[in-house]
Amino acid sequence: MLGGMQDWPLRIMRLLDHAEREHGSREIVSHYAAGERVRSNWAGIARDARKLANALERLGIRKGDRVATLAMNNGRHLVTWYGTIGMGGVLHTINPRLFDDQLVYIANHAEDRVLFYDAAFAPLVDRLKAQFKTIEHYVCFDPAEGQGFEDLIAAESEDYVWVEGNEREPAMLCYTSGTTGNPKGVLYEHRSTVLHAMTEISPAIFNLSASSVCLPIVPMFHAAAWGLPFAAPIAGVKLVFSADYTPQLMCDLMREEGVTHSAGVPTVWLAMISHLETSGEDLANLQGVTIGGSAAPRAMIEYFVERGVMVSHAWGMTEMSPIGTSGAPPWNWEGMSKIERVDYMCRQGRVPFGVELRIVDDEGKVLPRDGKASGRLQARGPWVIERYFQDESGPATGAEGWFDTGDVAILHPDGVMQITDRSKDVIKSGGEWISSIELENAAVGCPGVAEAAAVGVYHPKWDERPLLLVVKREGVDVTPEAILEHLSGCVARWWLPDEILFVDSLPHTATGKLLKTALRDQYKDYRLASAA
Ligand code: ADP
Repeated sequence: MLGGMQDWPLRIMRLLDHAEREHGSREIVSHYAAGERVRSNWAGIARDARKLANALERLGIRKGDRVATLAMNNGRHLVTWYGTIGMGGVLHTINPRLFDDQLVYIANHAEDRVLFYDAAFAPLVDRLKAQFKTIEHYVCFDPAEGQGFEDLIAAESEDYVWVEGNEREPAMLCYTSGTTGNPKGVLYEHRSTVLHAMTEISPAIFNLSASSVCLPIVPMFHAAAWGLPFAAPIAGVKLVFSADYTPQLMCDLMREEGVTHSAGVPTVWLAMISHLETSGEDLANLQGVTIGGSAAPRAMIEYFVERGVMVSHAWGMTEMSPIGTSGAPPWNWEGMSKIERVDYMCRQGRVPFGVELRIVDDEGKVLPRDGKASGRLQARGPWVIERYFQDESGPATGAEGWFDTGDVAILHPDGVMQITDRSKDVIKSGGEWISSIELENAAVGCPGVAEAAAVGVYHPKWDERPLLLVVKREGVDVTPEAILEHLSGCVARWWLPDEILFVDSLPHTATGKLLKTALRDQYKDYRLASAA
């Protein structure tokens, strides 16, 4: 047949070219660790990315080589993303909160050739340098002694033609935090990243436009800051970056920069809400928050809703670029009561076009989307993993491309997905499942409870029974009886924890989630009084 459309490969650099051309003066603001606030814009980022691409070529970096970063959110980090990808490199964001042996494993496994880092992580770099086998060049983002980022690009030409290629070529590498075994690398491609970014600006996910000002309170090393640095250039969003997430600084940035959208994990918002409650400050122009990475407690969702801020509760994972679902308002939003809206937002939302979900039982039989059956959640789509980086053991997917997420979920008839647990975290009591997430979030709704973790501990009759570990809110006294009383109004009687223990703090993963493996280990020999 004659006629047709153009071949326009979905390459990441087209995102930046578009932003430079159409939204060049839209700002990128960076608050650096030293307190300095640097202003650039999409045109400036594109210009510096071309200079960096030239510099990387000068260092001998070639197409496909890995360039690593160990840094918080800032404009120079963003330039490094685009400059690396633009010269054909594969950008590898390393999570500095990992343990030393994991950092060494990851950098060596990725065969990183250059490492860009924040001055704050210089001690870490000095400590591990001898063990990084493949890194030849170290560049500090902050003005520091030796060669810094600005020195590296200063004399470079502003002209550079981005390396072209197939849209299925790799562009970025992120390792999952690997709560068991070694971390695994997830390799994002140009096409997967562009499709994901195009979907992210839509009302189904972040709802971004040229008037949006976005402060990601999720680090660029955590699943690519949930893809925001790739979505923002499409809509011409103003980005506000910060090296640290102290609530006071977040409030100042929101007010001074006119932030309309923000995103972060529940622990970030917990700290923020407790700050707002004591300081009496408000959320300024904030219109919408995306909460994801762990289940958002109901009390947190209510806090925002009461202040007129739309909450979209998102679910995803590194293996999914990371967006799987998000709680965009459904068609009947206007007719919903406040309680119905909060109920809706407590669940993890619906898929955008591009993600398919199903739940299966332990034998792999597909379960109905009836709002009752719960099973292993599987996903597939153009931004879902096919195979881990350099993994000889084969694809990460099963038959027909379904990837097992390791989560347990319910699918409702209207398409809403509800995570009930991670399959490793469910508490198996008398052949039935108790959702640790639901117990934890119900507990956090009890006045005086700052944070809670539910773990299953051995019980001779029931196999496992829930033990609830609670961190008290500072200066507030709360008793186990009061917590049980509160929980009785939220969950089934047989779900109530057999015991409640108060602890000073709870362990977290490198991405701010409760570290359940550590808790399970710590309490594996715990004897419940009910088991006597
Ligand atoms: P990790 O490296 O720790 O796996 P990810 O960010 O990829 O880091 O974690 C993905 C997991 O986080 C999901 O599989 C799920 O268990 C959990 N998760 C993410 N978002 C939510 C949410 N909104 N509610 C409940 N759990 C969530």
